[in-house]
Amino acid sequence: MIPVTKPFLPPREEYKQRIDQVLERNWLTNNGPLVNKLELRLKRYLGLDHLLFVSNGTIALQFAINVLGVEGDVVTTPFSYVATTSSIVWEDCTPVFADIDPETLNIDPENVDAAITPNTSAILATHCFGNPCDIEALRSIADANDLKIIYDAAHCFGTTYQGECIFRYGDVSTTSFHATKLYHTVEGGAVITEDPDLLERMAYMRNFGHDGPGQFNGVGINGKNSEMHAAMGLCNLDYADDILERRAEQCRYYDELLSNLKVRKPEPLEEANVNHAYYPILFESHEAMKRAKETLEGREISPRRYFHPSLSSLDYVPDMETPVSDDVAQRILCLPLYHTLTKEEQEMIARLLLRAQNY
Ligand SMILES: *Cc1c(COP(=O)(O)O)cnc(C)c1O
Repeated sequence: MIPVTKPFLPPREEYKQRIDQVLERNWLTNNGPLVNKLELRLKRYLGLDHLLFVSNGTIALQFAINVLGVEGDVVTTPFSYVATTSSIVWEDCTPVFADIDPETLNIDPENVDAAITPNTSAILATHCFGNPCDIEALRSIADANDLKIIYDAAHCFGTTYQGECIFRYGDVSTTSFHATKLYHTVEGGAVITEDPDLLERMAYMRNFGHDGPGQFNGVGINGKNSEMHAAMGLCNLDYADDILERRAEQCRYYDELLSNLKVRKPEPLEEANVNHAYYPILFESHEAMKRAKETLEGREISPRRYFHPSLSSLDYVPDMETPVSDDVAQRILCLPLYHTLTKEEQEMIARLLLRAQNY
């Protein structure tokens, strides 16, 4: 059985050692020493001035929307994980979908521009599959219309844009450290901003607004993360370079094996150095995608239809047409990709895909 992804696991002894130290201290959560250490090490590794470790990537999005005072309409991508849209609705705003660019699968700035009304207060865009959005175009649209930009960078650990960590862009950037992501803390996420006021506000938000015992600074929620999660994060961070290197190698090998497969891959921008978090392929038709998927599943290999359905089809969003996203969602498949996936397994997957194509 080959799943689409498997969580990376550090050597068990290393994790046990850190957990033993946590148990020894009997300090399990509430801004513990490992949470602090992880934040410091993540900032150093990624080259960031600020980062807050939070419970997951979804609450990170909610913090971003909330702290920026976003109201009314949020122009967003229909091609992402459901949390990108649901967090907008959860924060009492209305998602307005701007269709994606068929080459990059990221939100198309021209469509963003066309979707803006006097009711729009922000853009929430996903750097899909770790490929950066057209950051410059979105920035100039936001500046011209006095809008905030939030980037859902959940796929982006290790991606850089013009030599800088991708998390630096946008008014607030969010990420996820969920077990299925390239770098993980089992459950977890982060918010990143260069604005010290926003940072301080979000630091209060993640801890109920507590400003000392019995003192509160604004309304908050529980968005903290624990020492157990930080322990996993610290262990995995020692392997982040290995993980990124191996992913790049595995993607190159898929490229080589699949050079005769009639599929297209999303094109990252030239200024980007991507993390190869996923291996998405776009078939020529829905039928070709289905045939490939069924052939792989017949051999207990599970590719995944990331992302299907298009988020514009959710029943709690206004009706909107997103033909490019709908079409891509019908033809895309992400192939298995994880640290322990072997060359032999990749070769078998490639053989089956090429065979399915020739039926
Ligand atoms: C994983 C993911 C999220 C949600 O992150 P969690 O940590 O699981 O809450 C949000 N957006 C995108 C694009 C994701 O892939």
